[in-house]
Amino acid sequence: MQVQLNVASRASGKLFTKLPIPVVPPPNFSSATHRARCLAQLRSKSNGLEKYIYLNGLKERDPSLFYSLLYDNMREMVPILYTPTVGDACQNYSHIWRRPEGLYVSIGDKGRIREVLATWPNLHDARIAVVTDGSRILGLGDLGANGLPISVGKLDLYIAGAGIRPTSAVPICLDLGTSTQKYLDDPLYIGVRRPRPEAAEMDEFMNEFMEAMTEVFPHLLVQFEDFSTDNAFKYLRLYRDRYRCFNDDIQGTGGVVLSGFLNAARLSSDASKRPLSDHRILFFGAGSAGIGVAKQLLSFFKFQGMSEEDAKKQIWTVDSKGLITADRQGIQEHKKFFARTDYDGPALTNLVDIINYVKPTALLGLSTLRNAFTKDVVDAMVAHNPRPIIFPLSNPVALSEVDYGDAVEWTDGKVIFASGSPYTPFTRDGKKYEPGQGNNMYIFPGIGLGSLLSKASHVTDSMVEQASIALASSLNTDEHAHQLVYPRLDRIRDISARIALAVVRAAQNASVDNAPALRHVTDSVLLAYIKERMWQPRGESSRM
Ligand code: NAD
Repeated sequence: MQVQLNVASRASGKLFTKLPIPVVPPPNFSSATHRARCLAQLRSKSNGLEKYIYLNGLKERDPSLFYSLLYDNMREMVPILYTPTVGDACQNYSHIWRRPEGLYVSIGDKGRIREVLATWPNLHDARIAVVTDGSRILGLGDLGANGLPISVGKLDLYIAGAGIRPTSAVPICLDLGTSTQKYLDDPLYIGVRRPRPEAAEMDEFMNEFMEAMTEVFPHLLVQFEDFSTDNAFKYLRLYRDRYRCFNDDIQGTGGVVLSGFLNAARLSSDASKRPLSDHRILFFGAGSAGIGVAKQLLSFFKFQGMSEEDAKKQIWTVDSKGLITADRQGIQEHKKFFARTDYDGPALTNLVDIINYVKPTALLGLSTLRNAFTKDVVDAMVAHNPRPIIFPLSNPVALSEVDYGDAVEWTDGKVIFASGSPYTPFTRDGKKYEPGQGNNMYIFPGIGLGSLLSKASHVTDSMVEQASIALASSLNTDEHAHQLVYPRLDRIRDISARIALAVVRAAQNASVDNAPALRHVTDSVLLAYIKERMWQPRGESSRM
């Protein structure tokens, strides 16, 4: 039988007392040796999930050391704390659960959500909440209450990547039920055992939740994460002008891909000598991420001086039924915007046929369909482009549309590549090729930091667009020389500060900022101020 604790007993914390433990370290203790010890312990774990559990324990024991190690070892630790390993952690969360590490707001809390939120221990420090309802975690489906690690992981990246104070981070999972029978049948499942609510009940819940969030946490920015496609679009539309919020799957992904595309298009156009306005982009996958990215990429053409109507003509979308055309019966609402009105032949369902019809310069995968970009598909891209842009953006690697090594081999090294999940560099004929990763973590920490420092009432499209441009412009000389499309992740704090600066300026230009003192300072003073406001763990990091 499942017993739901009432708000008072959930808040009392009595279930999670700690024994007093010695706090004095051994006499010969050295911080530097202990850092090395922790890394050795991490590396001794044989699989990703074990590493995730180890790091979570380290965060509980010594948050400062944890964040400092994370910052100094981004390339090693981000894939554990976020995609791909966080996907395993979510799928197994009810089994690996150790202690409360975020806030669950349950469908049973409807009518008293304010009280539940008020149980959060750091009410006055709270600045950023990452909120998921677990309904579409990383392309892994409806994981219900097992989705909490997504919110926790994103906030870890905010803390390490943008210096958000750990006590300002509020991970939230909306526990609304699940449509995945396996979890409903699992005796250890941590969430409520019921199917997901109908739209009207969910809307009521969400309206109460957002209102309560604003009352209980007046300074908070809400980042929506991994809601099912229709709800992701719906709640962003409903709340974006009412609350300080954004949707990372739609706007964060759009922003990060636009940024990589800005750099990729320049490299591709250098090779083809075609103007930037001639780029033609084919989206394989038209869910919340695919359509969100496509909408953001309209800005790319706008930067070339094109109208939205003309920009739209440079974009084609494909879903599981093939090329999306306006005459298709029962087309979903979010797919209508890019549905083509200039094709009335028989339905095009084969990707190679679609490429030969569209002749895209860029092929972007957001389909969750492993290996969908076969050699034939890549060959078709090569046939139309001296340097094809191929971005397989589906996460995790197990769902990637093409592996980096294959893309390099099949294009003779000509591919301009960025993936959703990390790939290691690939060596071919003695030459090392470095993949790009269109990782949202490049951009959301800076968007969040800039929104908070400017006290923006909303997150506008122009703030996201300026964040993309700032990211694209952040490549240093070495990264340009290596023809990278994204900077190296280990410079994340500097990158986040530059993005935050661009976001603050965009908020000011849109008149949604509420920090008048920042309006009259120069960019260099503002950049220094932003860096100064970043939280630093106590003295361990060599670079923070
Ligand atoms: P979704 O399930 O909402 O959408 C998937 C889309 O792919 C749908 O339009 C579906 O019709 C299409 N599709 C599925 N099978 C297909 C097939 N056989 N042929 C053609 N199209 C097919 O998922 P989503 O939220 O849009 O996310 C898609 C992927 O994007 C996920 O793997 C997610 O991890 C990834 N993503 C990447 C980033 C990033 O790289 N920064 C950010 C967010 C999401």
